[in-house]
Amino acid sequence: MSRASQAVICAPQARIDLSALRHNLALARRYAPDSKQLAVIKANAYGHGMLRVAQALEAADAFAVARISEALALRKAGIGKDILLLEGVNNRDELQLAQQQGLQLVVHQAEQISLLQQATGEPLTVWLKIDTGMQRLGFRPEDVQSAYRQLRECSIVKGAPVLMTHLANADDRSSAATEEQCRRFDRAIVNLEGEHSIANSAGLLGWPTTRRHWVRPGIMLYGASPFVDSSAADWDLQPVMSLETRLLAVKQCKKGEAVGYGGRWRCPEDMRIGIAAIGYGDGYPRHASDYTPVLINGQRVSIVGRVSMDMLAVDLRECGAAKIDDPVLLWGRAVEGGIQPVEEVAEKAASIAYELFCHVTPRVHFIYQD
Ligand SMILES: *Cc1c(COP(=O)(O)O)cnc(C)c1O
Repeated sequence: MSRASQAVICAPQARIDLSALRHNLALARRYAPDSKQLAVIKANAYGHGMLRVAQALEAADAFAVARISEALALRKAGIGKDILLLEGVNNRDELQLAQQQGLQLVVHQAEQISLLQQATGEPLTVWLKIDTGMQRLGFRPEDVQSAYRQLRECSIVKGAPVLMTHLANADDRSSAATEEQCRRFDRAIVNLEGEHSIANSAGLLGWPTTRRHWVRPGIMLYGASPFVDSSAADWDLQPVMSLETRLLAVKQCKKGEAVGYGGRWRCPEDMRIGIAAIGYGDGYPRHASDYTPVLINGQRVSIVGRVSMDMLAVDLRECGAAKIDDPVLLWGRAVEGGIQPVEEVAEKAASIAYELFCHVTPRVHFIYQD
């Protein structure tokens, strides 16, 4: 180890556990053993670092990203695996790049079929996207048969399109919407040849009828639960990102004194407050409310007062031994042991794990562990 990597630095770091990432992919395979795994690594792999994640997920059958810029970065880094563009291409230049780089395209609207009809050259695989109730991307069910025929007539479309849709309510296992979306999907594609793909993480884990030829896990790969009513541990998912910093100050405060901007929280008694070196400038959610949990020395304590740009305050009453330089875990798995689920933090911040992961800023030092 170099001196620098041993140095104790009072700044936030995100430890990325690549073996946990692979564990979560293997778990996805166990739930959907007959499906191919399209690992979703858009948005910088949900904030985890797209290239490192792609390299670690060698066992995936293909990758999905939202935009062509993400796919080009993967190709430039030498990733040769199949890559699907979830938003497809938006103009001729993008289509040409996709052909050159051997990318696969989602086709979700008529304008994209026109682009394909006018193009020549290298054929590519397309995924025909059907909107079965989300009103986001996709052809209406009644337009699917004709869109499919047009695609099959395009010289640059390779073979039968993969038939896909996206679930809007799969995170809620009491909702009837998922089964209804599946019924609409199956009606729209009747008599059409091609593989199917419906499931995101929530579908893959919780809705067996959505496990078709391809599943598209995202959030579960990163070790967070896709469900509103169950935790990652319930599914044996392992946290991949551990966001950690240190205490940079410990102070004695008096009963009634206000903590932080606006004085949102007041000390109910004489007590110690710790100041941790992390804030919204690092991506920790500013809307985290009082009593959002953190771990110090494996002990669960909570933040109090508004989150600042570079710092936040912690109630140290339950953590008598805490001192300057002690590690503070915001979410993930502590080096000393103990897990702080990201979902709990997200809930206290009126957000979701997806957003918290994506918001971690480049100011945070990323460390990849295997
Ligand atoms: C982002 C995305 C996924 C992955 O969703 P998770 O909830 O993260 O598993 C799957 N399919 C599509 C079309 C997506 O945009």
